[in-house]
Amino acid sequence: MMAKVLAGDFSLLRGEPPLEYLAKANKLQAQGKDIVRFEIGQPDFDTPENVKEAARDALEKGFTHYVPSLGIPELIEAIRDDIEKTRGFRPKKEQIMVLPGAKPGIFFGLMTTVAMGDEVIYQNPFYFQYDSLIGYMGAKKVQIPLYEKDEFRMTPEQVHERISRDTKLILLNTPQNPTGGVLTKKDVEAIAEMAEENDTYILSDEIYSKMLYDGERHYSPAYLDECSERTIIVDGFSKAYSMTGWRLGYMVAPREIIHNAHNLFADVASCTASFVQKGGVEALRNGQYFVEHIMEHFTRRRKAVVEGLNEIPGFSCIYPKGAFYVFPNIKETGMKSEELALHLLDEAGVCLLPGTAFGSQGEGYLRISYARSVEEIRKGIDRMKTAMEDIL
Ligand code: PMP
Repeated sequence: MMAKVLAGDFSLLRGEPPLEYLAKANKLQAQGKDIVRFEIGQPDFDTPENVKEAARDALEKGFTHYVPSLGIPELIEAIRDDIEKTRGFRPKKEQIMVLPGAKPGIFFGLMTTVAMGDEVIYQNPFYFQYDSLIGYMGAKKVQIPLYEKDEFRMTPEQVHERISRDTKLILLNTPQNPTGGVLTKKDVEAIAEMAEENDTYILSDEIYSKMLYDGERHYSPAYLDECSERTIIVDGFSKAYSMTGWRLGYMVAPREIIHNAHNLFADVASCTASFVQKGGVEALRNGQYFVEHIMEHFTRRRKAVVEGLNEIPGFSCIYPKGAFYVFPNIKETGMKSEELALHLLDEAGVCLLPGTAFGSQGEGYLRISYARSVEEIRKGIDRMKTAMEDIL
């Protein structure tokens, strides 16, 4: 007998990005072909040694049992300090919940605020998970197209045109995946004010907030309500501390939201891994050196990738202000994004993602993750250039 679907339509889940395409890249690699991997959305650095040491020490000391489902007090304190330093306000303990990654923060943020039929405003191109969960929950998708001329920012004017009393939630992501776009102070303030006027929640995915270039600063919509009424911040350790496999993140939110998310999470998983949280404490307390170190690398890589892409016939690429992705425009090649991505895999041995993997607005673009060494970036770009010179 078929299981009864109670909570949503599973057929609307998107799953992981273009699996067939990635399966092909893996197959070619397994056959011995040298493939430059530009599709991977995680830093290629090892987790900092002091963070590993803190987790090892916790294991040695037998810190291996259940811990409070909201998170260990030490980590909650470290998060409060970090939010105070980076967002300018100090959340109460009851506003914080530690989770196995930022993704669960997005999930619980949506589950505790949005019901079937509610309108959710978000960007297109988007991070896959948003579109997948919003669809699964039966919420109404109100997408805002991002344009290169706006440096891929979701502008307040665009939000203004779409927001109404029917809007339940605005999903922000700055710096953004897949474009690297960053919202300005003015953008964030105007959007936060509109959310207040329309009594709308804001779910702000700030996973790349420590990864900015050219002296840019991060602005959070939480400045207005300090996460006490409508704003939910989601952040984590995966990117800035190169800890994707540790599964560690958190949400800062109004108390009622944390209350409900807490009950749901206790039913799902009891708590986030105990010794992993000790690693998180060390990352926040003594990890700033590491973030600076990797950002120096990313700055050099960003230059290499943008300069290189602009030399490829039919390509043009702006300098994104955050994260470690570029979103080159390939419209002049006359090819569709998917067609070109496949061509570059076959002819250049370069694996990257078509912009359309992130929504319809990605047509005419590719997404490249430059979480690779400068040498690897140059190799990939050279091969792409040769492949394009051959056909244009
Ligand atoms: N949000 C965005 C925008 C991301 O790009 C990613 C990772 N690709 C995540 C959330 C997931 O982060 P985590 O590994 O902490 O779950």
